[in-house]
Amino acid sequence: MIIVLRAGATDEDVRQIEETIKGKGLTAHISRGVERTIIGAIGDERKLDPDAFEGLSVVEKVLRILAPFKLVSREFRKEDTVITVNGKTVGGKALALFAGPCSVEGRDMMVGIGERVASAGATFLRGGAFKPRTSPYAFQGLGEEGLKYLAEARDRTGLPVATELMDPRDIDLVARYADVIQIGARNMQNFRLLTEVGKLDKPVILKRGMSATIQEWLMSAEYIASEGNQKIILCERGIRTYETATRNTFDVSSIPVVKSLSHLPVIADPSHAAGKMALVEPLAAAAIAAGADGLMIEVHHQPEKALSDGPQSLKPDAFTRMVERLRKVAEAVGRTL
Ligand code: PEP
Ligand code: MN
Repeated sequence: MIIVLRAGATDEDVRQIEETIKGKGLTAHISRGVERTIIGAIGDERKLDPDAFEGLSVVEKVLRILAPFKLVSREFRKEDTVITVNGKTVGGKALALFAGPCSVEGRDMMVGIGERVASAGATFLRGGAFKPRTSPYAFQGLGEEGLKYLAEARDRTGLPVATELMDPRDIDLVARYADVIQIGARNMQNFRLLTEVGKLDKPVILKRGMSATIQEWLMSAEYIASEGNQKIILCERGIRTYETATRNTFDVSSIPVVKSLSHLPVIADPSHAAGKMALVEPLAAAAIAAGADGLMIEVHHQPEKALSDGPQSLKPDAFTRMVERLRKVAEAVGRTL
């Protein structure tokens, strides 16, 4: 918070304001200009009431410098947050690699794809058991049966699993099987859902809403953090623009912007951004170069027969080759994959 004093404010006025700031546990930085004095209050600004300063006759104006998101902001924590799940990390030097099918379609496919992506270097498995589909007639996911196959794939590969939670009524069920809970783009502003996952002691991937600004996205993260759960992984998955050549427009700029505004790790999902398998690799490379902390990639053994998102899914061989090439990009920016 910055407090601008009127010309003519005395040393005693400055001292009193300084005392109030220090009394709340913040530090006061005083800058005496030729015309007026400015006091910067540094620390947890929530402890200060701007009205209490604005009401003083010596105060010209009070400027709040803290972003509306607080717990997830860089101002709140300078160091990057690193989230560890069963020995695998998100944030830090090593890139996280979430990979697997869009939907869990059966036991053999989930375990089979899981083994393939694990040997290619994936660090987490993904697969949806509850699917947010545009059409009510499209495949909606296998529900608990799908969660069981995911757990089986975890047992076979040793990799933690991430899966989407769509409804607060399913939270106990999903949390029983999942190591990481995904909140999908369509639910980024489902505040009830955010509040509920905020009460869990489990990492949450918060995908960017398809029409959400960066500030709205971070405010949604704040909902989760304000309930106590600060294990939040932000995921850029493309936004809706006028462009129709791709499924969404991959907002690569959000990665460095969010990393400057927040201490939370940011991963990128080029599969949903691109909507086309041929575009997944260049977008993934761009994301790593821009500073992403990891990737989420859809992989399917028979994309042409996939029950959801086949056109953007890579075959296991293509995924393996892509990861090998991306390792060089990671290395170029001081990361490992
Ligand atoms: C998904 O990960 O399969 C998915 C539905 O993603 P999004 O919420 O980003 O559309
Ligand atoms: Mn999908």
